[in-house]
Amino acid sequence: MLKQLVEKIKSEEIDVEELVEKKIEEAKKINEELNCFITICEDYARKRAKEIKQKIKKGEATNLKLVGVPFTIKDNILTKGIRTTAGSRILLNYIPPFSATVVERIEREGAIIIGKTSMDEFGFGSFNVNVGVGFKIPKNPNDTSRVCGGSSGGSACATKTLEIPSLAESTGGSISAPSSFCGVVGLTPSYGKVSRFGLIDYASSLDKIGTMALNVEDSFLVYDTIKGFDENDETSRSEERDSELKKKLAIPKEAFDSCEKEIKEKFMGSLKKIGWEYEEVSIPLLKFSIQSYYIIAMAEASTNLARYKGIAFGAQENVEEKNFREYFTKIRSENFGFEAKRRILLGSFVRSVGYKGQYYYKALAIRKKIIEEIEKLFKNFDAFVLPAMPIFPPKIEEALSLSPEKVYALDICTIPWNLCGLPHISIPIKEENYKQLGFEVVCNRFEEEKLKKLSLEFENKLK
Ligand code: GLN
Repeated sequence: MLKQLVEKIKSEEIDVEELVEKKIEEAKKINEELNCFITICEDYARKRAKEIKQKIKKGEATNLKLVGVPFTIKDNILTKGIRTTAGSRILLNYIPPFSATVVERIEREGAIIIGKTSMDEFGFGSFNVNVGVGFKIPKNPNDTSRVCGGSSGGSACATKTLEIPSLAESTGGSISAPSSFCGVVGLTPSYGKVSRFGLIDYASSLDKIGTMALNVEDSFLVYDTIKGFDENDETSRSEERDSELKKKLAIPKEAFDSCEKEIKEKFMGSLKKIGWEYEEVSIPLLKFSIQSYYIIAMAEASTNLARYKGIAFGAQENVEEKNFREYFTKIRSENFGFEAKRRILLGSFVRSVGYKGQYYYKALAIRKKIIEEIEKLFKNFDAFVLPAMPIFPPKIEEALSLSPEKVYALDICTIPWNLCGLPHISIPIKEENYKQLGFEVVCNRFEEEKLKKLSLEFENKLK
């Protein structure tokens, strides 16, 4: 538990510099085999450890919640002075001039960043095999021939192997999916609950920063330090909601039906262990959530990626006599990966003048309707529960050979909640081999407190 670790660091029973050194060495070693880091910032971490040690000695660290805790950060979250690539060659040498609000908030509590983790380029993927040009695919720590899950695959892999927390990000399932595949706890807060200031945008109306950790208590400890209003993010909120406990759960039929047989059985076995009342509920529109999500996500992604044209950020070349159109075409052709290009093309199409009504506005209307339906349903139960992924982690080659439609469809257990901005958590159902599975719990918007209550109890019963 992080709380105990922090106490030991404060009382100097554990030497913070030694701890950080040990984690850096371990990180370097596992990275050779697992590729979970894009950058290991050893000098930065050593310097911070020294400063923190001084603070402890001077008695200035007594009230800090994360003193000396080594952290990893997904590489689409800005870290001042530490290279931040979003997993893309177009940002290969980008050094941010400021840190994201979430990074400032954990550092204020004494956290020590040791590295930036691997991800699908800009978050575009479910298995972390859509890496940018020249980047390496991270491997599942429980079976290195298999994927980590995406897009925050490096964070899940590092959390599992180094046993330290990570700040990750989800647009449509990027925290739950890799947490399920690697066997860690992944917490995705309500949209707006955690500031996105300093996050490299994928789809601005869907992106959420959350946490990965070894257990529920640690996940919420980290979440509590990063949550809340930030004047730099107009969509951030401090709102909290709570509703009376009904001790009743719902299985969303349309998502559950898409799961493999073995996954369903494992999940039902776990649900029995929890012992609460449950019922299956049908949300007919849920089957359109994938289409609605990918249209909105790609439309926003294509807009957000327009800023990478070789001028203000990232990859640049001598302009020489080329005209602007040739110049940015060259930069973008050479530096974006295949999936990023696909999404730019599709995203630009669905929001183009003649097609907006047929695709983009329809997708927004479906999202609105699903939100309304789900809000109504929450009157009768506390949470949706379901497997976090419909399959076990596939082999890397298998994942690479799947068609995009097939990959997108496999997001059915995570996309609906992300589309509606609902807080959710994936708790590992303990397994020995690569067949890891997350037990996903989804609460109503801003009901993080209820989510915490439920997941602490469920985690205990799932042990
Ligand atoms: N698999 C989804 C996508 O490719 C979600 C990824 C994410 O949450 N960043 O968009």
